[in-house]
Amino acid sequence: MRFDIFSLFPQVIQPYIDSSILQRARENQLIEVNLHNIRDWTTDKHHVTDDMPYGGGGGMVMKAPPIFEAVESVLGAPPICPLILMTPQGRPFSTAIAKELSALPHIAILCGRYEGIDERVRDHLVTDQISVGDYVLTGGELPAMIIIDAVSRFLPGVLGDPTGAEDDSFSNGLLEYPHYTRPEIFRGWGVPPELLSGNHAEIARWRREQSIRRTLKHRPDLLKNAPLTDKERKIIDSGVDI
Ligand code: SAM
Repeated sequence: MRFDIFSLFPQVIQPYIDSSILQRARENQLIEVNLHNIRDWTTDKHHVTDDMPYGGGGGMVMKAPPIFEAVESVLGAPPICPLILMTPQGRPFSTAIAKELSALPHIAILCGRYEGIDERVRDHLVTDQISVGDYVLTGGELPAMIIIDAVSRFLPGVLGDPTGAEDDSFSNGLLEYPHYTRPEIFRGWGVPPELLSGNHAEIARWRREQSIRRTLKHRPDLLKNAPLTDKERKIIDSGVDI
């Protein structure tokens, strides 16, 4: 899958994609990430990419011309793939959206800075808008890294364990169960005996129960749409501690 990222600070993204799983995925040609500095498409002597807002007020606005030039020179006009604007005003990012994007061969991401971008970019260039949460960051680079990372995890071969993403939180509508690794006793704290039993059915039962228990405690809102058995739903609805 190919990602094209348009940003004024692509250097903050580079170290992240040069590390760990994303680096391996790039080496194995499972993902290609191309970083583009919007400033390279300015035509004036000082390479200006922002200006004061019409109507006054504080802050600067990213100018439309270098953004259009950058995107159109890399992706054509109209762009050959979806162009996602990172913005707190976009649709809230989720596992469902990550899976949806992972089915595409190519996406592009536009990172804003300052007060944001000239509205004509939103109106006439971008095709999607995504938010990573109800808070405001100083730029779209962290959100872009979140999208690249979460989407890549759904691409076959990217995770060492091919079933790795299936049990993860949200994938099956629940939070994931707890994990333990060696040593078996650490500062007097042990490991749940079920995990040491070697009995796969018992381990699966324990993990399922822990998953539901955690979701009930930390994210009860998820249980409404979680794929629970009738028995599990009855136990939860009865208020009995499972
Ligand atoms: N003035 C804008 C507003 O109130 O909607 C916020 C601009 S923010 C300071 C600068 C840039 O950071 C945005 O253009 C966007 O690209 C990025 N950004 C900030 N918060 C974000 C979020 N929650 N999700 C996605 N992108 C975000």
